Amino acid sequence: MPKAKNVYFFGNGKAEGDAAMRDLLGGKGANLAEMTNLGIPVPPGFTISTDVCAAFYENGRKYPAGLDKEVMASLERLEKTIGKKLGDPDDPLLVSIRSGAPVSMPGMMDTILNLGMNDRSVRGLAAKTKNPRFAWDAYRRFIQMYGDVVMEVPHDKFEEALSAMKKARGVHEDTDLKAGDLEKLVDEYKRIVKASAKRDFPQKPLEQMWGAVDAVFGSWMNERAIKYRQLNEIKNIKGTAVNVQAMVFGNFGDDSGTGVCFSRDPSTGKNEFYGEYLMNAQGEDVVAGIRTPEKISTLAKRNKAIYDQLVGIKNRLEKHFRDMQDMEFTVQQGKLFLLQTRNGKRTGAAAVKCAVDMVNEKLITKEMAIKRVSPALLDQILHPMIDAGAQKAARALAKGLNASPGAACGKIVFTAHEAEAWHERGEKVLLVRKETSPEDIGGMAVAEGILTSTGGMTSHAAVVARGMGTPCIAGAKDVIIQGKTMSIGSKSFREGDWITIDGSLGEIYEGKLPLVPPEISRDMSTFLKWCDDICAESKRGDIKGFQVWTNADQPVDAKRAFQFGAQGVGLCRTEHMFFDKEKLIHFQAMIVADTPAERKEALKKILPLQQKDFFGIFKEMEGKPVVIRLLDPPLHEFVPHTPEDTQELAEHLKVPAAALQSKIDRLHEQNPMLGHRGCRLAVTYPEIYDMQVEAIALAAVDCIKQNIPVRPEIMIPIVITARELNLLRPSAEAVLKRVFDSAGVKVPVKIGTMIEVPRAAIRAGHIAQYADFFSFGTNDLTQMTFAFSRDDVGSFLPSYLEKNVLDTDPFKSVDEEGVGFLIDIAVRQGRAFNPDLKIGICGEHGGDPATINFCYRAGLSYVSCSPFRVPLARLAAAQAVLNNQKAKPAPVKKAKGAGAADKKAAAKKAPAKKAPAKKAAVKKPAAKKPVVKKAAAKKAADKKAAKKAPAKKPAAKKAAVKKPAVKKAAKKAKAKKAGK
Ligand code: ADP
Ligand code: MG
Ligand code: MG
Repeated sequence: MPKAKNVYFFGNGKAEGDAAMRDLLGGKGANLAEMTNLGIPVPPGFTISTDVCAAFYENGRKYPAGLDKEVMASLERLEKTIGKKLGDPDDPLLVSIRSGAPVSMPGMMDTILNLGMNDRSVRGLAAKTKNPRFAWDAYRRFIQMYGDVVMEVPHDKFEEALSAMKKARGVHEDTDLKAGDLEKLVDEYKRIVKASAKRDFPQKPLEQMWGAVDAVFGSWMNERAIKYRQLNEIKNIKGTAVNVQAMVFGNFGDDSGTGVCFSRDPSTGKNEFYGEYLMNAQGEDVVAGIRTPEKISTLAKRNKAIYDQLVGIKNRLEKHFRDMQDMEFTVQQGKLFLLQTRNGKRTGAAAVKCAVDMVNEKLITKEMAIKRVSPALLDQILHPMIDAGAQKAARALAKGLNASPGAACGKIVFTAHEAEAWHERGEKVLLVRKETSPEDIGGMAVAEGILTSTGGMTSHAAVVARGMGTPCIAGAKDVIIQGKTMSIGSKSFREGDWITIDGSLGEIYEGKLPLVPPEISRDMSTFLKWCDDICAESKRGDIKGFQVWTNADQPVDAKRAFQFGAQGVGLCRTEHMFFDKEKLIHFQAMIVADTPAERKEALKKILPLQQKDFFGIFKEMEGKPVVIRLLDPPLHEFVPHTPEDTQELAEHLKVPAAALQSKIDRLHEQNPMLGHRGCRLAVTYPEIYDMQVEAIALAAVDCIKQNIPVRPEIMIPIVITARELNLLRPSAEAVLKRVFDSAGVKVPVKIGTMIEVPRAAIRAGHIAQYADFFSFGTNDLTQMTFAFSRDDVGSFLPSYLEKNVLDTDPFKSVDEEGVGFLIDIAVRQGRAFNPDLKIGICGEHGGDPATINFCYRAGLSYVSCSPFRVPLARLAAAQAVLNNQKAKPAPVKKAKGAGAADKKAAAKKAPAKKAPAKKAAVKKPAAKKPVVKKAAAKKAADKKAAKKAPAKKPAAKKAAVKKPAVKKAAKKAKAKKAGK
């Protein structure tokens, strides 16, 4: 049987792989192959595939048989191509060992450069190149990297030795050290290695190479990498690939250099060549932020030919990949080499600008543009800015590079560890560091903002912050960090002090400046308009269109959401209106009233206040539907909770405090979430809902009188049976009629219900008889389906996620298999009774892209989310439409090498496509893992089936079976025989 191919060569203008083989070769390897095939100068090499990584872990950290032969053959081929041999004492081939997973993963092993150097070849290299300084520098870098990464020698030890040497020689830059200094340093480094690793630095190049390859595969499961995958929800990836590539040298002298560049500005998205480079430096130097690099534009002056060649290549790569490229290059003695290209990470603003520009440039279609921008990126544009007035009045203490936009304020912390600890305690932190590295990722993720004193626009801090959408300033040279203090000029700050940063301008301010919400740019509104068009034109059977509404309790929220493009208010929670002091006291009086008359009296005082709020919201929404939910939470939430408050209420009511207290005590419930709440309140106290309906009607009348279009909808919460609606609906209708008749107006008002109790979902066909619309309250529906209290879930949910008992937090993304099943039943039954039934979702889930995708598949008419998430939801809604379209042949050639974000989304959506879970289940019958994995694989398979044929979901079948019953009920509806 022929063995599977595990190693793929690239070089001399031809490669065995290409960009489409990303899953197998990793992003780096696939694109190195692609560039090679395009005839772009790339140092030759070979890629050991991700299959090997998967096999390595499946076989107890052993490589598949025959791998060594394959690697040796490729190495020989590489030696032939270059004309040098690994370990040749006179003229050695040197290689780099580079990890590279299918998605970009900064948590992985660091690259090792200059592999193949040893005590003999360093002299050969010095003689051959007539550049001893270069040879010794290459060797000492190699020992440092290899020692650190493979032999686990503490990084600091090398740094200390290097600093000591510079100090001894009285120089500042590494480049000022002479060959002899470096030779001494090599001796010192070797001593450090021996002392720390308890063995000599390996001299045999093949041993070095396999050591490095082992380390890359080993790093797939290191803590950093695992954490990174967790944080970024990267699942179902086979592993990393390893690239072995011939070295080119940017540290050869002043005619050499290295840099990182982007085909467009990754911060703003402007179509401007953007990047940084350092002369006489090796790859890592630019990223590590050790020396501050120069702008790419200055390369035009320094070396016009190279600059022009680079511009030509970046144009070509961008056209080829149809996306903004992030490239690494090295110039060796005036000759240009590309070492990497990938779709560039960008800020939300840049993502939108690039997408819109590229459509206008006819590089991509609108659909591609929409699919490409990840909704999470839009979220970051909607981050606050410093209030313009306050910013003008304040004086910036210092300026650094505007590495990631948006403003942030927080308490200063100096380590990632502290950041996490403080965040745990509920503090807002701003992470201040000299530079950051991959192990800081956890702290960076929780920080409001990041400030570093060194590093450029492509430093680790800058790149990671942009990816996270966290405001960041890098390279703020005036910021001096010493232990747990930071000083800027004469000002000094300690851990816990507040500062504010403006990542868009790179400015640092003392204290806590007020932040304001952002505005939507012209590109953004163009882009979102495209999204809306896609949604409006979408069709699912008889259901036309798909909309984004908002949850807004106050006129200001409604206004903001409307500006952000909401097409209706899907949830206006009336109880929030009571929390302000003025209303609360009347509401409390109502709650503790003894008689209906007293209760009505108190409610009368609230009525005009509610009316005013409703009017405000109607006005802001300019005739768009506004769904007002009648009172929902248990009454006791509103009663006084402290003796002082009780006293105050007692005075207001002119009753003794003690008597009031005992009444309050009687209101106490053991399980308020399952207690006297929602429409149950109206079943016992009808006057509460009557007052609210009257306020809605009066507000509508006010609108009509002022010529403001108005479309109120009334929503009744916590319904469990059609009979509740059968009781409550007529009384609401009576109130509406009374108000409208006496005002002489006609306002159509829909009356609908929330579906948020499992029973309601199951009985939806009956409930639909009395409801003009359904809205899924997925917070409660999730709570009650799982029997998880949202307030208490924190104590055990993390274990569920960690141990793979659950895939995702069901309060973040709707649980499709359980809660989604109920939604599916309710939709089918509801529509079977009333095909025009308007159905939406108004839980927190409404702003979650995965849930939005589900809602589209489930046939909902709209999703409703918080105002700030509206733009993101508009995009996610359009993506749901596009991603659920039946595949038709793409009009343009498919762009290769999808961005990490896209990949991520794809991986999430179609887990069934990825093999590892399945393989593990099949191949590993032992140990306890398989159980979980098998389940996962089965689930993945289920999902796949569900995805392929949504109509054949179990839910669909069951609902179909039940349909006749529902229809019967429908026919009987008028006969007042509502089902329970
Ligand atoms: P990362 O994934 O962290 O970017 P890379 O593998 O891209 O790691 O390598 C880190 C740095 O080393 C980059 O600047 C890269 O250009 C440089 N580098 C990697 N391989 C070589 C090589 N063969 N010759 C010259 N520079 C290299
Ligand atoms: Mg790289
Ligand atoms: Mg609810």
